[in-house]
Amino acid sequence: MIKTDILIIGAGPTGLFTVFEAGLLKLKCHLIDALPQPGGQCSEIYPKKPIYDIPGFPEVLAGDLTTNLLEQGKQFEPGFTMGERAETIEKQEDGSFIVTTNKGTQHQAPIVAIAGGLGSFEPRKPKIENIAYYEEKGVEYFIKDPEVYRDKKVVISGGGDSALDWSVFLANVASEVTLIHRRNEFRGALDSVEKVQELKKLGKINLITPAEVTALHGNNKLEGITVTKDGEKILLETDHFIPLFGLSPKLGPIGDWGLEIVKNAIKVDTLDYQTNIPGIFAIGDVNTYEGKLKLILCGFHEATLMCQSAYKIINPGKKYVLKYTTVSGIDGFDGTRKEAPKAVVQSIN
Ligand SMILES: Cc1cc2nc3c(=O)[nH]c(=O)nc-3n(C[C@H](O)[C@H](O)[C@H](O)COP(=O)(O)OP(=O)(O)OC[C@H]3O[C@@H](n4cnc5c(N)ncnc54)[C@H](O)[C@@H]3O)c2cc1C
Repeated sequence: MIKTDILIIGAGPTGLFTVFEAGLLKLKCHLIDALPQPGGQCSEIYPKKPIYDIPGFPEVLAGDLTTNLLEQGKQFEPGFTMGERAETIEKQEDGSFIVTTNKGTQHQAPIVAIAGGLGSFEPRKPKIENIAYYEEKGVEYFIKDPEVYRDKKVVISGGGDSALDWSVFLANVASEVTLIHRRNEFRGALDSVEKVQELKKLGKINLITPAEVTALHGNNKLEGITVTKDGEKILLETDHFIPLFGLSPKLGPIGDWGLEIVKNAIKVDTLDYQTNIPGIFAIGDVNTYEGKLKLILCGFHEATLMCQSAYKIINPGKKYVLKYTTVSGIDGFDGTRKEAPKAVVQSIN
């Protein structure tokens, strides 16, 4: 059982900034995310796009914002359960909650902050008969650890950035990489498309377009696939088939937790973004209230106010006095201390 003060569901920008604000109040956080990496929409959908409306950053790449948020919260030593979806929640007699993931990992906390954005991203799966049978037996929808593919035969299908970038990356890891796309044109960044072309010329990537994977074969595990191109069927031996067709967001299991839902978002009050269940808050894109704007800076603001209420629930009767970080400095849970240099006092003759 993982125990923490604030259990955050969703490691997008809102969830990541909550770690920092909670840390200032000496509250520890643990995050759960269905995706293998943190950053939410910023790292999954548009890591290389510049954002222009983060206060104080005239321009920042979404991927760099994620890196900075991780760095900013690092000293407060957050825990992570990545690649798992929060599935069920149970209220305990002592008022705390137990949240269990689809893989059975249990987490307990007095406060739950749902920062689930558009919901948990589910991979779009190709419609191939018996694909479910080969899941985790050679068919994967995410690449969590590229080393799994070392010296293996890999087939990737898809036409976006993920399919292109992973084909390029695995060309130097796997023994054979085949990229299959149903069109001749790719939707990815120009330099990724060019790199694939280059690796194709060097014989490091087999490119099959326009084509589709139409059948999977193998006893107990994946051993081969059928590719249909111009009506012709080609049999390919492979150890792995990785369809990278993008992700579709779904509020998913959180929708069944007894929370008030309005148009696929969780209704909250505007005092501290608490839901209709005391102790459960919803912050960032996942919530709704009058005048709601789905912007990163709004998620940061909501996280900050929510942490103040979480502090009061966890420390009843204790008064918190707001201090500027410039004045109080920051004491990390890892023993580090950051503080502004002391003012130099000089006398004037
Ligand atoms: C192309 C694009 C451009 C954008 N440009 C801007 C911009 O310029 N400025 C701006 O302010 N905003 C922009 N946005 C919006 C911005 O990305 C969102 O407002 C922001 O990502 C919301 O952050 P979040 O942390 O609330 O949610 P998200 O980023 O959606 O993160 C939520 C996370 O929760 C996880 N999750 C959900 N349910 C579960 C569950 N049950 N179990 C486990 N994990 C779960 C998801 O996997 C996800 O990682 C843009 C969005 C897009 C798509």
